[in-house]
Amino acid sequence: MKIEILGLNKIYPNGNHALKDINLEFGTGMFGLLGPNGAGKSSLMRIMVTLMKPTSGTILVDGKDIQKNRKELRQMLGYLPQDFRFFTALKTWEFLDYSGALAGMKNRKLRVSEVDRLLDQVGLLEVRDRMANKLSGGMKRRLGIAQALIGNPRIIVVDEPTTGLDPDERIRFRNILSQLTQNDVTIILSTHIVGDISSTCQGMALLNRGEVVFSGSPENLVRNAGGHVFRLNLSTEQYESVKERYNIISTIPVDNGWEVQVVSDDPPGFNAIPVIPNIEDAYVYFMEHKIKATIID
Ligand code: ADP
Repeated sequence: MKIEILGLNKIYPNGNHALKDINLEFGTGMFGLLGPNGAGKSSLMRIMVTLMKPTSGTILVDGKDIQKNRKELRQMLGYLPQDFRFFTALKTWEFLDYSGALAGMKNRKLRVSEVDRLLDQVGLLEVRDRMANKLSGGMKRRLGIAQALIGNPRIIVVDEPTTGLDPDERIRFRNILSQLTQNDVTIILSTHIVGDISSTCQGMALLNRGEVVFSGSPENLVRNAGGHVFRLNLSTEQYESVKERYNIISTIPVDNGWEVQVVSDDPPGFNAIPVIPNIEDAYVYFMEHKIKATIID
């Protein structure tokens, strides 16, 4: 499968330019869309699932314009929206059964067996008879992914699925998503949590203020930040002056001052030692880099 996002813009009626000339291409597997709140992730996801029209630009799935083939696209799509909630008083399995019917699964027997298979997959089989609105936050989110998966979608769009989950549930959710990549599906995962992006993502994009500031593999993101992360040992006075000029990503108190890490295009002096960046460092580097570039423009 190939998804191409071409020259996409979204300007809301109040003038907010939420997406600015987005161009991305990715295929089967997991694609991570990372960016801070307000970056434009949900806007892009809503356009992707045809709940909203772009102001300009197109999205092609295997060469077909999604706006012109909405029905076909929706049949191959599973979507977990950011604000996924239950408004109905249904048991957990009933909710999923209902979602299956909505997804076009007409054969009741097949549907019920699929419901239990999915409940098992997301670890909710034991609570199948509990009211869905009485599930814990993490369980609700897992039921959300189950409803996105029912009907065998080939494209799965999950918008900020781990927000508000505790670390255990976050890991659990991430594992469910990575297992899905074994099937022949395309998963689009939007998140503001750097830790949600892992090597399971074949591709990723960093979105900032409506613009793509990086696209490529997570390894590439980290590699590109190489040589731009430094460790410095500073006195309190030096610390104050460095703080003014550089973006500090960590500060540890040491015997006679501070050990800090900064991201910077060039070595910041102070006997700075280059360090190998991790993905968090790389994220900060790209975000800062772009903000500075925008100011210079
Ligand atoms: P994210 O999902 O990354 O947090 P959003 O796509 O929700 O970002 O928002 C991107 C920008 O568009 C933000 O500045 C937000 O305030 C704005 N925005 C989102 N929805 C609307 C709307 N319905 N009307 C006007 N502006 C909006």
